[in-house]
Amino acid sequence: MDETRTILHVDMDAFFASIEQLDRPELRGKPVLVGYDGPRGVVAAASYEARPSGCRSAMPMAVAKRLCPDAVVVSVRMSRYSEVSDKLFKVFDDFSPLVEPLSVDEAFIDVTGSRQLLGDGPTIARNLKRRVRDELRLTASVGIAPNKFLAKLASDLQKPDGLTRIGSENVDAILPPLPVTRLWGVGPVMGERLATLGIRTIGDLRLAPADLLASRLGEEAEHYIRLAHGLDDRPVTPDSQARSISHEHTFGQDMASAEELRSVLVRQVEAVARRVRRGGFKAQRVSLKIRLGDFKTISRSATLAEPTDTTHGLTQSARAIFDAWAADSFRPVRLIGFTAERLSADEPAQLNLFTDPKQPRHQAIDAATDRIVARFGKGAIHRGLAKDE
Ligand SMILES: [Mg+2]
Repeated sequence: MDETRTILHVDMDAFFASIEQLDRPELRGKPVLVGYDGPRGVVAAASYEARPSGCRSAMPMAVAKRLCPDAVVVSVRMSRYSEVSDKLFKVFDDFSPLVEPLSVDEAFIDVTGSRQLLGDGPTIARNLKRRVRDELRLTASVGIAPNKFLAKLASDLQKPDGLTRIGSENVDAILPPLPVTRLWGVGPVMGERLATLGIRTIGDLRLAPADLLASRLGEEAEHYIRLAHGLDDRPVTPDSQARSISHEHTFGQDMASAEELRSVLVRQVEAVARRVRRGGFKAQRVSLKIRLGDFKTISRSATLAEPTDTTHGLTQSARAIFDAWAADSFRPVRLIGFTAERLSADEPAQLNLFTDPKQPRHQAIDAATDRIVARFGKGAIHRGLAKDE
């Protein structure tokens, strides 16, 4: 196994629920469910005290309350979580410039280049955990490994407050007993397909004849065999080097309200647009991913008349795509995602006959918004229509 790189995967423990317990001391030590307490409500986060009863995020709130009748239900305060998230990523930035965000509370950090200055992987991980504890008063679980796949797997093994290393010394003990669905890209459908071949664990996959796998999995077979052996070459890609920037949201229950979906989408576009501007990019193309309840996935894209980094421009394109889809084929949605693509460095604007005359105003609004967000957190300002996800 190539151990040249040191990658951390940091994942906060029950992030939303832990922030509620931090802000409201009376909730500490109690089972807490964060989410909307209504008939269609879904658990956004369950505190560790609620988990022994079987409560999990993405579960219908009604089910969670039945499992844990003593739980305190509190509503989502996305703006507060975003504010804590900004502080968290500032801590990450002190350990390496190579930070790839996966969500508000999760990131890959390539610390290979930081080792000489900051110590080996476990030392860096311990210091990072300590800073998160001291400055945010929250706990993180950290996985340390030579690649992204193993680092993410590792951070999940000893939650909460975990610190787990996977390397050549233990990879062949840890991987084989795990279910194949722990491999990236192996979802429930492929899991079942593999189970019909008698392949249920990563160890089973390692032992399966390569030609059998190739005949059933096609070109992907090689990729899964490599993962099963703990091999993964994908780089940690910070926004500044990204070819695309995206946000996705999976609903615990299929979302049947187009209005609600639109507001989640607008929120995603705002977050993506902010990252596009922070990276100094403009996007030439936007795309929307919609996954339906039966796992059918629809992708629709639009190429923009000219590259943009304004929230307004990106939102208009995203809404146009969504509305066109919703108008003729709306169905309840499991997942929605927005991507800004074909990113190019933001060069000084050329005078363009087709430039929207309102463009300078939109840029001024975005610049002001970004400054407010940088100072007061993401919740401080939102366009009409955007609501907390
Ligand atoms: Mg987390």
